[in-house]
Amino acid sequence: MEHLSAQHSDAICIGFGPAGIALSCVFEDARDDNTPLARLSLRYLESAAETQWHPELLLTGTDINHHVFRDLVTPRNPRSRFSFAMYLKSQGRLFDFGLLGRPASRHEWSDYVAWVSRQVDAHTHFSAPVSEVLPIIRNGRLSQVRVDTAQGRFTTRNLVLSTGSVPRVPEAFQGLLGPRLFHTSQFLSRVQAFGEQLPKRWLVVGSGQSASESVLELLSRRSDIEVHSVHRSAGFKLTQLGQFPNRVFAPDHVDYFHSLSHAERHTFLDWSRSTNYAGIDPDESSKLFSLIYEDRITGRERLRTYAYRAISAIEQIAEGYRVTLTDSFSQRSEVVEVDVVVLGTGFQQHLIPPLLSNLQPWLQADIDGGLVIDRDYHVATQGECDVQVWVNGLSERSHGISDSQSFSLMALRAERIANALGRAVSVAQPQPALAE
Ligand SMILES: Cc1cc2nc3c(=O)[nH]c(=O)nc-3n(C[C@H](O)[C@H](O)[C@H](O)COP(=O)(O)OP(=O)(O)OC[C@H]3O[C@@H](n4cnc5c(N)ncnc54)[C@H](O)[C@@H]3O)c2cc1C
Repeated sequence: MEHLSAQHSDAICIGFGPAGIALSCVFEDARDDNTPLARLSLRYLESAAETQWHPELLLTGTDINHHVFRDLVTPRNPRSRFSFAMYLKSQGRLFDFGLLGRPASRHEWSDYVAWVSRQVDAHTHFSAPVSEVLPIIRNGRLSQVRVDTAQGRFTTRNLVLSTGSVPRVPEAFQGLLGPRLFHTSQFLSRVQAFGEQLPKRWLVVGSGQSASESVLELLSRRSDIEVHSVHRSAGFKLTQLGQFPNRVFAPDHVDYFHSLSHAERHTFLDWSRSTNYAGIDPDESSKLFSLIYEDRITGRERLRTYAYRAISAIEQIAEGYRVTLTDSFSQRSEVVEVDVVVLGTGFQQHLIPPLLSNLQPWLQADIDGGLVIDRDYHVATQGECDVQVWVNGLSERSHGISDSQSFSLMALRAERIANALGRAVSVAQPQPALAE
């Protein structure tokens, strides 16, 4: 396997989604302003061939659920040239966007993210999925890590992990994943693979945004479709819209959350999850409810919702699945046969990101076995270790809900990581060149 480059870099960042791009923007701004961080050089490794924001759910009619000021840079530096306002200005839509009276569509936000990416991706290797991070030990110390990609390998002493959350697939479905049973993170590819032969009977698991959007998309694709929508709760519920609970997405909340004890963080996270996850927009809720209602007038039933149900068994049959749904209260069961199952079961963060598994002997663990992460997103190490690791978007357990699957604090988080990296690099010994 060959080394990708012999150029020197101060750090490797794995993942060039929004969080990786936001980090790159800090250094671009520093170059514009000629501040000390301008001297740092990072290299970014991204599995995708180009930047797209959650392309599998880039569906017509969907919009973003954060304020446009919470873009890749504005909370950190409102004068940055990479703001959403600058994007709108450059596209000639600044005034018209103001007249829209609704959030940016997901298509527009994805276009914004790609627009920024194109300006800050000079040090990014696309189509470079990282398969493994391996320790390099010299004189008994972890002196560097080797980062293996499909195209080649790098060595570094400073690593930033910006790989995003991963699809949550409940155990019962894990051995069944394939073209007819898939997570929403593969939604469009899988649906498009059916071409003109879109199956008729679908079962969608979940009550959150991805599940509801999948249901609406399927209903729009075939007029005689049957969608079974399964919920552990009463059905699709609204996301938390109140100003006060939404303050969990503000920076002072992160300080508060991070100051709590391990057990307190657990309790708080459970509470904030229930207020902010697995909810849908009021307009989507109305659309779904109206559709069921209007169908009843004409004697149709394209969408059937099952409340308080758990999937107690699933069995593959011919070209589909036989699914047993059990009522959580009465324990009564019924069987539904469908052609395709879609898992709108959300995303999760591992206690230890799999890419760090080879470094475990040098990583401190908390009582759950998870990473110990300081306020600047630096991962605590132990033993003889010269390697520094930061997590950029994988710190839900230490920093709270706003620092995981959200744009809200991305720009400020990137600034903290960049500053911490700057301090680490300025005190560290000069590193050998990347390629050996
Ligand atoms: C459908 C959907 C809609 C959402 N809408 C909103 C919203 O409106 N507002 C909001 O605040 N949040 C939203 N979110 C939450 C979302 O997580 C964030 O918006 C944002 O995408 C997080 O950015 P990230 O860079 O941390 O992770 P990701 O967007 O997941 O990006 C991670 C990147 O790392 C790359 N990568 C992963 N593994 C490797 C590897 N091994 N090697 C190399 N590269 C790798 C991936 O290809 C990807 O480009 C949404 C999430 C989904 C799924």
